[in-house]
Amino acid sequence: MDEIKNFIDGEFLLSTSGQYIDDINPATGELIGKITNSNAQDVQNAVDAASSALQSWSSLTIKERITWLDKIADALESKKELIAQTESRDTGKPISLARRVDANRSITNFRFFAEFTAKQNDMQFDMDDAINYVHRKPVGIVGLITPWNLPLYLLTWKIAPALVMGNTIIAKPSELTPLTANLFASTLQEIGFPKGVFNIVHGLGPNAGQPILEHPKIKAISFTGGTQTGRIVAKTAAPLFKKLSLELGGKNATIILDDADLHAAAKGAAKAGFTNSGQVCLCGSRILVDASVATEFTELLLNEVRAMKQGDPQNEDTEIGSVISIQHLEKVESYVELAKQEGGTILTGGKRPSLSSSNNSNGAFLEPTVIGGLDINSRTATEEIFGPVVTLHTFENQDQAIEMANSTEYGLAGSVWTRNLERGREFSQQIETGIMWVNTWLHRDLRTPFGGVKNSGVGREGGQWSLSFFSEMTNICVKQD
Ligand code: NDP
Repeated sequence: MDEIKNFIDGEFLLSTSGQYIDDINPATGELIGKITNSNAQDVQNAVDAASSALQSWSSLTIKERITWLDKIADALESKKELIAQTESRDTGKPISLARRVDANRSITNFRFFAEFTAKQNDMQFDMDDAINYVHRKPVGIVGLITPWNLPLYLLTWKIAPALVMGNTIIAKPSELTPLTANLFASTLQEIGFPKGVFNIVHGLGPNAGQPILEHPKIKAISFTGGTQTGRIVAKTAAPLFKKLSLELGGKNATIILDDADLHAAAKGAAKAGFTNSGQVCLCGSRILVDASVATEFTELLLNEVRAMKQGDPQNEDTEIGSVISIQHLEKVESYVELAKQEGGTILTGGKRPSLSSSNNSNGAFLEPTVIGGLDINSRTATEEIFGPVVTLHTFENQDQAIEMANSTEYGLAGSVWTRNLERGREFSQQIETGIMWVNTWLHRDLRTPFGGVKNSGVGREGGQWSLSFFSEMTNICVKQD
């Protein structure tokens, strides 16, 4: 069993609280780790370390920091399989998914920001009689707070740009999934990464996260998590004038127009709905289909969903694992019950599966579930469930599809399926989201802006947006003779 300690000033340390939190493998119910339960004193110790390291780290040239990013990527690459296995154990996600998505992206995040930053030119604006030079400086100490669905993937998405711009870091991963952050810290220790530049404080949101938000020396907060927690983050950090990036929840629509390739759309909608058991903020949890093709599409969709292999995450061919915990499973199940009360019909799924392996009898599994017959404004169709549950709705015309897609408080992402690419593009412009895909889903170019509108967040990450967030700009206007 792993003992998960904080990583402060290059050392693994127990919290001053002396308390632990259990880390459970949600696919088996097995206790796999004991996590140190941190408090404000631990955050203070991390801030002291990050503060001492800031001068020397920020004085390195960008080129020197890029070299460090590449070294980190190399070291993670050599542990790719271990990262995937660890993530699968901690989250209950299929090992194939953990390899393809989590382990790969955690490495790519460093490679991408190394390469992307190297290509950036200093901004300069010429006037008739003066030149403006835009000088980027680090923000200082930054706080990174991340959720449990893509643990190392989302953490490294923030760490890489924060490091390359010269900041020092205090990270708080979700206490449900601390293992890969811990593995990352030991990797930094092995490669002799400068002490105090990157620190982790493990523990619960209110005890270990809140002091990060409140600490006056932490100048920026990049938060990914639920909308409700995002409100607390904003309320605490905004009066302190911290820079804030909020990547929050979603209730994304997958929209099937009447001219879609229905086979491709059904595959796409199933992937968008159930990847990582529906626990990706970008998941398409509402499927809207043109009434004229609804019967054919529904049959194709249900065939896709019923064919998904659910089971032990360790099996190579498993496509759907567990959800993150028994508590979360119960929350997701409560929405299935609510859907029935709201007049919905369970078209497939809706119950705990009977799995062949006895290892998983205490696991947090729910069959991939499709619910029809619900009002688009019902609670089930508007609240974020964040599990393997999608609702299916029909529309009569394109205007109604747009109205339905925009009818939630969220606005993160969506996809539209049509054979007419121009139609897809124009349709997408009318959807209130930060990201739209036409005939694809989760197809990512890391240079593009990533983030949501409405209650899905504030700000954008990715490419230059991440570099801007993790830096302060000084405009230096030099009058020419
Ligand atoms: P939470 O909002 O519950 O938690 C996110 C992080 O915030 C955790 O580390 C949590 O710690 C911490 N936290 C909780 N309370 C506080 C506090 N008062 N101060 C500081 N930190 C705090 O989200 P989940 O972990 O449940 O993740 C699922 C959510 O994340 C979904 O809503 C999903 O849509 C969203 N998400 C958004 C993404 C995006 O890019 N927009 C991407 C991925 C997920 P603890 O775990 O101890 O509570």
